[in-house]
Amino acid sequence: MSNYVYINGEFFEKDNAKVSVFDHGFLYGDGVFEGIRAYGGRVFRLTEHVDRLFDSAKVIALDPGISKKEMEDIILKTCAKNNVSDGYIRPIISRGVGDLGLNPYLCKKSTVVCIADKISLYPQEDYDKGLRIVTVATHRNYNESLNPRVKSLNYLNNIMAKIEAVQSGVKESLLLNPLGYVAECTGDNLFISRKGKIFTPSVQSGSLDGITAAAVVELAEKRNIEVIHGLMSRFDIWTADECWLTGTAAEMIPVTNVDGRLIGDGKVGPVYKQLLADFKHLTETTGTSIA
Ligand code: PMP
Repeated sequence: MSNYVYINGEFFEKDNAKVSVFDHGFLYGDGVFEGIRAYGGRVFRLTEHVDRLFDSAKVIALDPGISKKEMEDIILKTCAKNNVSDGYIRPIISRGVGDLGLNPYLCKKSTVVCIADKISLYPQEDYDKGLRIVTVATHRNYNESLNPRVKSLNYLNNIMAKIEAVQSGVKESLLLNPLGYVAECTGDNLFISRKGKIFTPSVQSGSLDGITAAAVVELAEKRNIEVIHGLMSRFDIWTADECWLTGTAAEMIPVTNVDGRLIGDGKVGPVYKQLLADFKHLTETTGTSIA
């Protein structure tokens, strides 16, 4: 359980951890965030997450008001303060307090928050048997409206798709981009394997540049499995041998049914299992020490 939340230089007890209702993060979803995991007292891929947080901020012209090094220290301190050695960390940088108008330049100073807690998205059964997912009508944002590479506080696109998934009786949905190519899921990147090769939609297809995905690509390449980033359609998914999702919160989860089509033989496959074992080893043996 998280007890202390970092806000702008101070730790507050969870019940007293408050941000102004005039913060544009609350009024407009104007801000950026990260989701990071700690394993065995080490933060996994800390530099990569902070780099992505700052890239997201740069794209929305948000001055974080702190350096990357300071952000890394805040993340490590928040874990230490809450005795989190295995958990989930949520740094947030919002535009800060302004008035009721949109203009971000009237917000004087960004708000920096960090929470360290636990997260569990899916029961073990879903990891053992694989998820069933469906394509939904909500498309991923057009790159030039809000680029999906920006991990912004405006997650309504993803939330709309999650609502459609739940309304369809499944837990996760497949989002296409405005051209009909596969982009990603609501909070995860998508991979397939077919005839010994691995394929995943390129970031230009409308997906977040996933940090778990990058780790899985490295692990696959270490095993001399070719990984191809490119345009993918649902044809590729439906006819794949295996399919799985990657994301910090879900880690690696298999998908065995997409739009009513069994993927391969409908069972969790060997490529996924091998890479999952490699991923577990990686998370257990690397990362930035908390204490
Ligand atoms: N896509 C979206 C939309 C996400 O929110 C996330 C989770 N941050 C991912 C993909 C996976 O990214 P990562 O592996 O860096 O957590």
